[in-house]
Amino acid sequence: MSVISLASGASCWRGLDYYKNKKIINLKKINDYEFTGTAIGTNNYDIYLDVSHPRRSTCSCPLANGKRILCKHIVATFFTAFPEEAKSFEKEQERLQEEYEDYQEKLYNKTQSYIKSLTKKELVDELSYILDYAPDWVYNDFVRRNDIE
Ligand SMILES: [Zn+2]
Repeated sequence: MSVISLASGASCWRGLDYYKNKKIINLKKINDYEFTGTAIGTNNYDIYLDVSHPRRSTCSCPLANGKRILCKHIVATFFTAFPEEAKSFEKEQERLQEEYEDYQEKLYNKTQSYIKSLTKKELVDELSYILDYAPDWVYNDFVRRNDIE
């Protein structure tokens, strides 16, 4: 398992931010798999990164200290040691975003054609159903916009 797949989404995003803002200094390569570094900010934290066994990585920040948590500092150290991983993480996120937008657009279009295929009675039934279960603000907005009161 890689550092990225073991860290939370929030740690990955914030780690990417830390990496881009060059917040990891003193990166030292122990060997191909192990690195140390310092995260600079309001407080400085010491990071030990083990790429081959990510759970053995450590950070002295309050979130990760003494726990097997992959915090944003560890992720940032990973991206600093392997900049191409930061690029592919960003590319993958963009791809997922595009995929999601495509799905949303297709769903919207399908919904539109479905609505247009309904008879008047079916539309009345659907609208009544939606208004029955809608939150008050939707119901009140419907009443106001259509001058019903
Ligand atoms: Zn940390």
